[in-house]
Amino acid sequence: MKIAILPGDGIGTEIVAEAVKVLNVLDLKFEMETALVGGAAYEAHGHPLPESTLKLAKEADAVLFGAVGDWKYDTLDRPLRPEQAILGLRRHLGLFANFRPAICYEQLTHASSLKPELVAGLDILIIRELTGDVYFGQPRGRRTAVDGHFPGAEEAFDTMRYSRPEVERIAHVAFQTARKRNKRLTSVDKSNVLETFQFWKDIVTEVGKHYPDVALDHMYVDNAAMQLVKAPKKFDVIVTGNLFGDILSDEAAMLTGSIGMLPSASLNAGNQGLYEPSHGSAPDIAGKGIANPLATILSAAMMLRYSLNQAQAADRIESAVKAVLAQGLRTVDIHCDGNTKVGTRQMGDAVVTAITKTTIKS
Ligand code: NAD
Repeated sequence: MKIAILPGDGIGTEIVAEAVKVLNVLDLKFEMETALVGGAAYEAHGHPLPESTLKLAKEADAVLFGAVGDWKYDTLDRPLRPEQAILGLRRHLGLFANFRPAICYEQLTHASSLKPELVAGLDILIIRELTGDVYFGQPRGRRTAVDGHFPGAEEAFDTMRYSRPEVERIAHVAFQTARKRNKRLTSVDKSNVLETFQFWKDIVTEVGKHYPDVALDHMYVDNAAMQLVKAPKKFDVIVTGNLFGDILSDEAAMLTGSIGMLPSASLNAGNQGLYEPSHGSAPDIAGKGIANPLATILSAAMMLRYSLNQAQAADRIESAVKAVLAQGLRTVDIHCDGNTKVGTRQMGDAVVTAITKTTIKS
């Protein structure tokens, strides 16, 4: 099982170190190799996704990714910015399906900004198409950026585009996933205004005919944004495009109290995947040893389940995370009175201890 470890920038190095520590106490053999990505790679090699890093990622069964970015790179030309590394990895590895679960852990219902009864037991999954839409559509016409900006320009534009095979394949993934859960799928679009999303809606409806056991409904993205804060539990699986999925998955993340708790998986057709926390590099807390490593540790669990076929090991990690929350251990982002405040490393150690205990018991 080959894993490419790409910690990246900011808190990325701190949280990935904890996830690696957790992987190392499982009784499994991994080949792990680490490489630079994002701002760290730009500093060392002049590019956020150097050839050597891309090669390592391509040859691995899975990539464990931290986060990239820092405000100091905001003036760089767009292709050299740290975030371009993620887009490059998605494109080169063909990672078209992004899974973002939003689960509200029993012990953290208080951390949500919504009333506890609205989020208690919340367990929804947002499936975001990841390699199309306005993020990848080539704008027609030329623009020349100066330091990443367009001084004196009269207009700026991006191109929203989806092809039939792109929509079909994400729709199939969504229906198949919904089938394994509660057989309910909501497709989110903006078909009342955007042609691209009328096209999307028509194709999702067509694909749905192959899955008569899954109840499909359609919702406009503005309504979906409202419903997520009004009655989030009415959703089960949501499928949507790249742009809407980016925004809705962050909104759903916050329903659960902390973005520091939420993992994500991005998969290609061969189940090779990139696993990363849903949050960014958090430059405001980088180097302080206080970042929550649980989203990254849970991403490692998703990696074991989806790309490495080790569902039992994934279960052990997830149970260990629940156990440390039950012990009352909290990083600063999920802390409240009555709990024990811990740092990044202590949280990682606690998960390791919880896993070791289950090993001894079994
Ligand atoms: P962010 O997710 O990095 O941080 C938002 C807020 O959440 C901050 O207050 C931060 O301290 C807090 N936070 C995030 N993760 C946390 C954790 N594990 N534990 C505790 N608190 C946590 O988003 P941002 O501030 O908008 O962006 C910072 C940088 O990250 C930017 O350069 C952005 O482009 C980049 N970014 C990268 C990714 C990625 O690598 N996939 C995703 C989003 C943003």
